[in-house]
Amino acid sequence: MMMKIGFIGLGIMGKPMSKNLIKAGYSLVVTDLNKAAVDELAALGAEIASNAKDVAAKANIIITMLPNSPHVKSAVLGENGVIEGAKKGSVLIDMSSIAPLASREIYTELEKQGIDMLDAPVSGGEPKAIDGTLSVMVGGKKDVFDKYYDVMKAMAGSVVYTGEIGAGNVTKLANQVIVALNIAAMSEAFMLATKAGVDPELVYQAIRGGLAGSTVLDAKAPMVLNRNFKPGFRIDLHIKDLSNALDTSHGVGANLPLTSAVMEMMQALKSAGDDKLDHSALARYYERLTGTEIKRFN
Ligand code: NAD
Repeated sequence: MMMKIGFIGLGIMGKPMSKNLIKAGYSLVVTDLNKAAVDELAALGAEIASNAKDVAAKANIIITMLPNSPHVKSAVLGENGVIEGAKKGSVLIDMSSIAPLASREIYTELEKQGIDMLDAPVSGGEPKAIDGTLSVMVGGKKDVFDKYYDVMKAMAGSVVYTGEIGAGNVTKLANQVIVALNIAAMSEAFMLATKAGVDPELVYQAIRGGLAGSTVLDAKAPMVLNRNFKPGFRIDLHIKDLSNALDTSHGVGANLPLTSAVMEMMQALKSAGDDKLDHSALARYYERLTGTEIKRFN
């Protein structure tokens, strides 16, 4: 049978990811609630489906790239969902970042129908989605991972197997904890420099090659210094991830004191109406505390 990929969710991430699959030579069938995004993919040769069930009926590999657990559950298990259209032997590769428990619940329902599933969230943001250099962290059966490795690799620089179903999303939560804490640390340090009279741009240039240097620093410091908070990765999505991290940690008996602190900073930004900005806008939390902007001195 010819391999046809269904793609559900053509947002900031899903749109460039699906474009890279077309570039790699795969045939696609797509759907999204946003008609403009669907039309953009259709112009590149993708077939349009009316809903998730229709996508699943027309494809044997179904990829979802949706905001959170409830969206994935409804698109997969709900009315007109993937489960109603998918054939036995097809696979759902859920690349959204959702709660690991939700991945396991969806897996159990699909397994009853003979449908495979991988949870395969990504890191790297919009720039790496566009370049096709995302990092993919994957949970599920190892043989299923091996079978669909090439499809995931067409969107990624690295695709790493991390364990049974749900392990991909546990890994992604670990990733999101590290990213959130790094952005908070960077903001705190830049505020220290600014208030102490040292240009944060020069601080960034001086330290980026040292131990404090990081991919997060290189991606987010320029955004803060340019006062560019256009997402990227929105605060509301990061709140979703930290909420899933805290829930998961309470369930397994891990403690995340720093994550709770940064969660409260993000909640304060949300209260101030900043939750649609990029997560680099965590800097604004510190700016409100001091009444001072973090920016280049000239
Ligand atoms: P987004 O809000 O830009 O895109 C989500 C898309 O899903 C939208 O186009 C929306 O219309 C569509 N959608 C929602 N419900 C639907 C349904 N029932 N049927 C069809 N389409 C539906 O979000 P995004 O930034 O692309 O993020 C998607 C996922 O990837 C999230 O889980 C996010 O945490 C994760 N992620 C995002 C980034 C990033 O930098 N933006 C990076 C890594 C991971």
